[in-house]
Amino acid sequence: MNVHDSEKAAFSLSNAGYELTDNPTGADVILLNTCMVREKAARKVYSRISDLKKQLRDQAHINGVKPIFGVMGCVAQAEADRMFERSKDIQLVLGTQAISKLPDLISQLDHGFPRAIDVRLSKTAEFFELGANVRQTKHIAYITIIEGCNKFCSFCIVPFTRGRERSRSVDRIVAEARDLADKGYKEVHLLGQNVNSYGLSGRYHGNNIPDFEKSGEGTFAQLLAKVASESRIPRIKFTTSYPRDFDKSVVQVIDDHENLCEWIHLPVQSGSNRILRAMRRGYTREEYLAKIAFIKNARKDISITGDIIIGFPGETNEDFNETLSLIAEVEYDGLYIFNYSPRPHTPAAAYTDSVPEEVKTERFTKLQELQKRIQMRRYGRYLEQNVEVLVEGRSARSQLDYYGHTRCNKVVNFPASEGIIGEIIKVKITEAKPNSLYGHVV
Ligand code: SF4
Repeated sequence: MNVHDSEKAAFSLSNAGYELTDNPTGADVILLNTCMVREKAARKVYSRISDLKKQLRDQAHINGVKPIFGVMGCVAQAEADRMFERSKDIQLVLGTQAISKLPDLISQLDHGFPRAIDVRLSKTAEFFELGANVRQTKHIAYITIIEGCNKFCSFCIVPFTRGRERSRSVDRIVAEARDLADKGYKEVHLLGQNVNSYGLSGRYHGNNIPDFEKSGEGTFAQLLAKVASESRIPRIKFTTSYPRDFDKSVVQVIDDHENLCEWIHLPVQSGSNRILRAMRRGYTREEYLAKIAFIKNARKDISITGDIIIGFPGETNEDFNETLSLIAEVEYDGLYIFNYSPRPHTPAAAYTDSVPEEVKTERFTKLQELQKRIQMRRYGRYLEQNVEVLVEGRSARSQLDYYGHTRCNKVVNFPASEGIIGEIIKVKITEAKPNSLYGHVV
């Protein structure tokens, strides 16, 4: 989602006549997009700005260019004008719903205002419609379907930084997917903080979502079916699913449409009912496992990935053991494991952070080891199999190798000749590691 927001900012600026550069030296504006899901990421923005400042100081003496430093994303939204106090270098703060205002805010600075800020959140904010000229790759594209979140899980800052759920109209989503297919895109990712809530908030808020109301179309599963059957995109993925709202109909639609890929990211966060309740997740371990069961019973072999928070306030050894047993039962193809850190504004920030850091680290390592063993088995299943790969680029490790993702979102490396980027090919797997596969083009 952040990558896609950066694309939107780039589009907004290029429409206003700016030229994009990935070299900060000589740039008139330097914009940092930020994440606030974890404390460490939120802190990084200030050190990154002072590093850039140092790097550019000599340059400014030479050519007289003094860039505007701007911050966008969730940190900008949450910290708002406090960012100006924490760093004298920041002149521009752009909230998550203000991307289209970017040129106006820069223009205020050009006209002599010392600072510019827009962090307003609204239930009716319009969706930013993205032109195709700023996509980061020519083969894989992101499409926003819903923004914001109404769930208010007790640890999560997203509802405060992204606002309430707003669903984009079916017609616009399908039109964007068709346009991307016409331009030769091979894969799209439908994006939302919680894709399974697609359309629901539209109905709750009535005419606050005029586009959705007009289109009169329903659930996420229905949207998926429509994009799959009407867009001609060869591969469609989506993220993120929310267990409480996720239902069988999504699995059914994946089974029914060949271009819907075999991958579902379904974050559980904890295997303990006590902790799930404290997290206000709205489902139990048993309900979650029932949903995993119908994914596993699908006609297609669907990969499942998830997220876990370690050391949520009050997590005991028994709670953690419940998480371990859930992980062992589900056998995820991939797992993002995070140590809990309190986020401002959230209810959990007021709980006593009772799990010592060394216990969090110990649990983290234990869980990571278990997951590594599971992934060795899961990835090992592909040995001697042919898998479909969309070639994305040269491998970082070897100039002779290329890499891409499978339909089930696993990274595959393989040697190949030039001119293959953007193609969908078959690769025979000859080696499996816990996080990637190796093979040769069939
Ligand atoms: S559903 Fe996801 S985005 Fe929404 S509050 Fe919970 S963790 Fe945050």
